Amino acid sequence: MANVRFDALKVAKERQVDVQRDNAPCTKDSKVKDYFARDVFTRERMKEYIDEQVLAQLFDDVDNGRTIHREIAGSVAIGIRKWAMDRGATHFTHWFQPLTGGTAEKHDAFFTLKDGMLLEEFSGDSLYQQEPDASSFPSGGIRNTFEARGYSAWDPSSPVFLIGDTLCIPTVFVAYTGEALDYKTPLIRSTAALCHAAREVCAYFDKQVKHVHANLGWEQEYFLVDEALYHARPDLMLTGRTLMGHDSAKSQQLEDHYFGAIPVRVLAFMRDLEYEALCAGIPVRTRHNEVAPNQFEMAPIYEDVNLANDHNLLVMSIMERVAQRHHFRVLLHEKPYAGVNGSGKHCNWSMATNTGVNLLAPGKNPYQNLQFITFLVNVLMAVQRHNGLLKASIVSATNEHRLGANEAPPAIISVFLGKQITEVLDKLEHASADKGIIINAKKEMKLGVANIPEILLDNTDRNRTSPFAFTGNRFEFRAVGSSANCGAAMLALNAAVAEQLMLFKAEVDGRIEKGEPKERALFDVIRKYIVACKPIRFDGNGYSEEWKAEAGKRGLDCETSAPLVIDRYLLPSSIGMFRTTGVLSEAELQSRCEVKWETYAKKLQIESRVLGDLVVNHVLPAAKRYQTMLLQNVLAVKQVFSADETATLNEMDYSIIRQIENHSGAILEGVEKMTDARHKANRLPDERSKAIAYHDTVLPLMAQIREHADALEMIVDDEMWTLPKYRELLFIH
Ligand code: ADP
Ligand code: MG
Repeated sequence: MANVRFDALKVAKERQVDVQRDNAPCTKDSKVKDYFARDVFTRERMKEYIDEQVLAQLFDDVDNGRTIHREIAGSVAIGIRKWAMDRGATHFTHWFQPLTGGTAEKHDAFFTLKDGMLLEEFSGDSLYQQEPDASSFPSGGIRNTFEARGYSAWDPSSPVFLIGDTLCIPTVFVAYTGEALDYKTPLIRSTAALCHAAREVCAYFDKQVKHVHANLGWEQEYFLVDEALYHARPDLMLTGRTLMGHDSAKSQQLEDHYFGAIPVRVLAFMRDLEYEALCAGIPVRTRHNEVAPNQFEMAPIYEDVNLANDHNLLVMSIMERVAQRHHFRVLLHEKPYAGVNGSGKHCNWSMATNTGVNLLAPGKNPYQNLQFITFLVNVLMAVQRHNGLLKASIVSATNEHRLGANEAPPAIISVFLGKQITEVLDKLEHASADKGIIINAKKEMKLGVANIPEILLDNTDRNRTSPFAFTGNRFEFRAVGSSANCGAAMLALNAAVAEQLMLFKAEVDGRIEKGEPKERALFDVIRKYIVACKPIRFDGNGYSEEWKAEAGKRGLDCETSAPLVIDRYLLPSSIGMFRTTGVLSEAELQSRCEVKWETYAKKLQIESRVLGDLVVNHVLPAAKRYQTMLLQNVLAVKQVFSADETATLNEMDYSIIRQIENHSGAILEGVEKMTDARHKANRLPDERSKAIAYHDTVLPLMAQIREHADALEMIVDDEMWTLPKYRELLFIH
């Protein structure tokens, strides 16, 4: 009988390494600078295609966060079309980031008909705004179907680029009423809020600072799996993760994959991927094997958060395309395999000024260090105040599997600072302000006993168990999931820090008004914060049971159920913070939650159905075939051997037959219960209750069913098993 698994294994094993790049003029001799940003309408290129005055206005507006005038858009559109058509483009699309995740596009051709004549056209209006009639995107109730209009509008701060024959225009996606229906809109709002608040605080230290922006350097983890094996696993195809599968005897115990030599076929894929990413202007720089077998990582050089996020989304789609060319499938799911490491997307975040100062890097003199400590401590306060919200910003049905597991960030948000910074904060805390803050002629500030030393950071002080770690000149938010749009986490962080900086400034100004000297006021408020933010600071083992108990005592959010974590968006502190910073209105927050709950329940519904199908149509038939074989064997043995002899001879067979019977029975019973639980959940009136029901009733049943299916995998004859096993999925490349 044909066995899908063995057919797939044969194909996978005979795979030739594809070192051919099918679209690249890239040879060994070509240098990155020859093709970097080849497909991007960079500022340099704009100069060739757009009038000088128009450009000056455009750049000035973009750099100062002002709205672009329609007339400017008209002139820019002409230049964009010319460049794109020179490069062979025939279509254009507004490229946006709906709340479903990923990116969306709707292609239109450049040509139009006027009086029966064909005209190549791309107007300022087409660049500026589109109405994609994308009424099927989730809006969480913001749009009713009768007023389903959603608009996409040009984001001139992120350059347009080409994918094949299509010009892609990064856009925001908003409702008719102006409410955000995407991730980009609030992300841009949050950077504006952060810029404003941070600039005000910078003014205490340096009046030259006109602009502050947030930087993001993402590290994208992913798994690769051979295409043939992928197609033999309906769960991978339909849900992105394996819903069952017994551990491989060898998996990641030896940690021999981490930073190991990259397998040849994978390297060919990576080179191709990097080439395409670089052409798209994504400065990818790092590639390596990750901890789990067949798990890898790529990271670019950090960029402005809005652009970096566009680039991450673009890279995720490039990855999928390039992987297919190499007969791989890329798994961006946070937890494709139980029992081995999941995939995250560490978000390295910092704030920098237009004067070139990284506000999260220690400075060269005490004065700069005071500025550094100011921003550091304010981030701590923001994370503390909004730790539940930050967790909500990264939670999803898929990332839920990764959090709190023993090889991933814990489900409690805390901040790791490392020994050195902790010592500096301790010193400042205990310093006596009365000993004087002396400012010498060179504007260097000496802080009495707490004279902030030159801080040289030792980057080796790492704590992998921390979800939010200071790593020398930035914070690394490690809880973000590999398939997520980083925008969700980044906008929450930007907004929380913006609010915190506003509070800080108000407090310092209040003291100054009462007559305190500026430096004293700064110093006093910082010292107050150093004490106040102690609960969020934790350098210990985030996986330990003691920490869970301790975190609860410290008042940190310890909720682990995703649907309940989503509630944190609607805490009064969250609503207030998003309102003050102008990042999201209460209606927008409510709608985001609705979408999150709905997506959660739908994903679990799909998983549960697929699992039901797998066990009933793959696992049980294989188990029954094997059981029948054993039963026939028992009968045959009985015919040949005497009764005395068969009693002992058949013992093992009997035992296996019984085990199969028990596991099969348990599976059938489980599937029935699970189907029932699903039906009950589906009948609930609102999305939140549905999500909670799926979490509380369907998910545990899925785990139970899986346990029995995995037990059967260990019992049933290997040749009869139809689904590729973990050792095959994880080790073939
Ligand atoms: P890791 O040791 O965590 O893997 P990497 O050297 O791979 O660190 O860097 C991770 C990411 O952090 C890269 O994208 C890098 O550009 C980014 N990064 C470095 N400095 C900063 C910074 N100041 N702000 C934001 N991101 C940064
Ligand atoms: Mg890192």
